[in-house]
Amino acid sequence: MPSIHWFRNDLRLDDNPALQEALEDGEVLPVFVLDPRLWGEDRWGHVKTGPFRTQFRWESLQDLRSELEARGGALLIREGLPEEVLPALMKEHGCGRVTAQAEHTPEELEVERLVIRAVEAVGGACAWVEGLTLYHPEDLPMPLGSLPDIFTQFRKKMEKGSEVREPLPAPLKVPSPKGVASDNLPSLQGFLERHGMLMPVADSRAVLPFQGGASAARARLKHYFWDSKRLAVYKKTRNGLVGADYSSKFSPWLANGCISARRIASEVRRFEREVESNDSTYWLVFELIWRDYFRFVAMKYGAKMFHRKALKPDSPNRGTQRHPFEAWKEGRTQDAFVNANMRELSQTGFMSNRGRQNVASYLVHDLGIDWRLGASWFEHMLLDHDPASNTGNWIYVAGVGNDPRPNRSFNTKRQAEMYDANGTYQTLWSTHAMELDIR
Ligand SMILES: Cc1cc2nc3c(=O)[nH]c(=O)nc-3n(C[C@H](O)[C@H](O)[C@H](O)COP(=O)(O)OP(=O)(O)OC[C@H]3O[C@@H](n4cnc5c(N)ncnc54)[C@H](O)[C@@H]3O)c2cc1C
Repeated sequence: MPSIHWFRNDLRLDDNPALQEALEDGEVLPVFVLDPRLWGEDRWGHVKTGPFRTQFRWESLQDLRSELEARGGALLIREGLPEEVLPALMKEHGCGRVTAQAEHTPEELEVERLVIRAVEAVGGACAWVEGLTLYHPEDLPMPLGSLPDIFTQFRKKMEKGSEVREPLPAPLKVPSPKGVASDNLPSLQGFLERHGMLMPVADSRAVLPFQGGASAARARLKHYFWDSKRLAVYKKTRNGLVGADYSSKFSPWLANGCISARRIASEVRRFEREVESNDSTYWLVFELIWRDYFRFVAMKYGAKMFHRKALKPDSPNRGTQRHPFEAWKEGRTQDAFVNANMRELSQTGFMSNRGRQNVASYLVHDLGIDWRLGASWFEHMLLDHDPASNTGNWIYVAGVGNDPRPNRSFNTKRQAEMYDANGTYQTLWSTHAMELDIR
């Protein structure tokens, strides 16, 4: 009996344990569902998936379809609610179960709950398989309820008491049931217009012309690790603001699942064996452990992590005034460094880690705005939005998350002097530069 593999944020064949599980049943019907909830408005009025991430997803799906077809498979792409689309496809193709990569955050878990109910109603079963994190959740050396609330304690326990599992190779064949052919994606422009959005326009100042898909992810890794060997200096350059190679730029591919964290870590190990092992090679994996940490925090705290006061119920309320918030979004605050970063975000869908920390701190601590508005704008704009990493970082900076130091904020003027001493970044993203660009 064939299985459905429901692709979600795992748009790859390499190191995809949920897909491997489906293949154990023989034939697999690979399906991606364009769920209208992902393009709906959130409570602050932002469409959840903005134009940059939608385009990246389209490119990722096109690449996935080619990779599946090269292995004898096909990719069905359907618009609708997964809890309606999946049971209907099960009946049509006589499938016994649905596999998918497990998610861990409230909105995604709610969809899983609805899908389980609908699939069971037609006599099928669901298997959610872990594949998103570097460390397998079963390999945590402590019960989830005892996950340390301080990152350093967590990292030390993981490094001492756990091991990252080996990534799985991509399957050689993904046989789909006879007569099944791939679907085309709807036109991107038409889809965006239906959701009240315009096509993104490429900006020559972008750190990278990000291209979705597992092939592009592999090419980026090849460039950053093997061709330029920038991995060997990552720790020295990672706080940069301008250019393609100050950091890995893996995040959009990781967030869409075009590459797995385990595959990246295994390539780091190979680099350490074949080229060089130093504090930079260590630090890239260290950052992937941060990514894991926020996932496990989301698993531990559930919906609480997404509440206004998140993990710190005694913290003060902050406002939701639209005027200063809109100025922040549009890069029209009193702070030139914040403005430059916000313009980069709205023109390209990306912002450096240094920039994100500064603009988040400025919104919450200088403008006194509720972190959830900023996180909502990031969700709309970012190519690499990930609910656990985004929320985990926002609540950390806002002082309602896992930062043990109370009331910490960034001095954005001082940060600009340290990280943009010559003003190169601020000039690149000044309104003047934007006007020249528009003309
Ligand atoms: C307010 C705020 C919001 C953020 N929102 C997101 C988000 O939605 N999605 C997202 O992937 N990252 C988010 N980050 C984390 C971080 O800024 C980005 O992961 C990083 O800038 C991506 O660039 P890179 O791939 O070149 O990172 P690199 O420096 O090359 O790091 C390698 C990888 O490690 C992981 N990583 C690095 N730093 C962090 C971190 N602080 N938290 C979690 N993972 C990390 C990412 O997967 C990244 O791709 C946020 C940070 C802040 C301060």
